[in-house]
Amino acid sequence: MKKCVLPFRQFVVHWDGVVDFCCNDFGRDLVIGDIRKRTVEDMWWGKEMTAIRAMLRHGDRRFAPCYRCNYFGGMRQGCLPPIPPATPEQKRLLKRMLAKSKKHYKQDQLPSKVLFAANEMKG
Ligand code: SF4
Repeated sequence: MKKCVLPFRQFVVHWDGVVDFCCNDFGRDLVIGDIRKRTVEDMWWGKEMTAIRAMLRHGDRRFAPCYRCNYFGGMRQGCLPPIPPATPEQKRLLKRMLAKSKKHYKQDQLPSKVLFAANEMKG
C-alpha cells in the first residue's frame, strides 16, 4: 500500500473547533480532538497523531478514511522519519477513535445559529 506524508505536515482545525488529522477526511471519520479542549501542541504530538503516522509511514491505509483515499501520498516520502510500525495498542486506539468520531456527524451538536441558517436555506 502507499505511504502518506500529509499527517506529518498538517492537520485541520474546523470552524467549530473539531480537529481532523487530514484535509481529505471530509466526513470526519477520524477526529483527533477539539481545539477548545486541548492545545495544538498536545494534539500534534499526541498519541492519536502518533498512531496515525505509524500506520501511514508504513503504507498501512486500512482505516477510514485512508482505505478509500487514492492520494498518491505526497512529495518527499523519503524524508519521513524512521518510526516503527503501529503497535497493537495503537491500532486499538484508532478503532476507538473511529467509533467515537461518529458523534461529530450529529446535527444536534451544531451551534444553534448554524442550525437556524440551515433551516432557513431549506425553505
Ligand atoms: S491517505 Fe488520504 S485520507 Fe489518509 S492521510 Fe493521506 S491524504 Fe489523508
